[in-house]
Amino acid sequence: MTVLTMHYLGKDPILREKARKVRDFDDPKLHALASDMIDSMYHYYGVGLAANQVGSLKRICVIQLPEDEEPTVLINLEITRKEGEREVSEGCLSLPGWQAYILRAEKVWAHAVGLDGKPIRYKGVEDLLAQALEHEADHLDGKLFVDYLRNKEDLFEVNHGEEEQGEGAARPTPGITGGE
Ligand code: ZN
Repeated sequence: MTVLTMHYLGKDPILREKARKVRDFDDPKLHALASDMIDSMYHYYGVGLAANQVGSLKRICVIQLPEDEEPTVLINLEITRKEGEREVSEGCLSLPGWQAYILRAEKVWAHAVGLDGKPIRYKGVEDLLAQALEHEADHLDGKLFVDYLRNKEDLFEVNHGEEEQGEGAARPTPGITGGE
């Protein structure tokens, strides 16, 4: 198990860079990165993690919602269409202790490629999955959820373990005890 170092907003400029499209799906380094990112997502108790957050600019992210039994590795994730608007509460592993009310789409269409090189398509997905796809695709474009703040009051501090929505949502992780 390899836990990668988390990169934080305000400290690590890589969070503002655009990740580069992956072309070599057989690259052993890509597979190692995906596996380390899954370990790291569990370690930091996130529902998702993008490569920028752990210091890589490969266009890859991992997502595991509370109801998912397995993590999903998404390479070259692109949002292709969004519909509707809703207010959500959102957090980010790169800005621990903070959450914000922001607007996200109601429905999201996206495509990506799995680690096996096969296409993955999301058609009009909703709720936390839609939010996670937008959040991680944003990371890979150098954007963060605070970019969507409409006013300062919508950003608020949360105590550890209180997080409810978004990337930093607390999630039981069977078999993973973490390091600290
Ligand atoms: Zn994030």
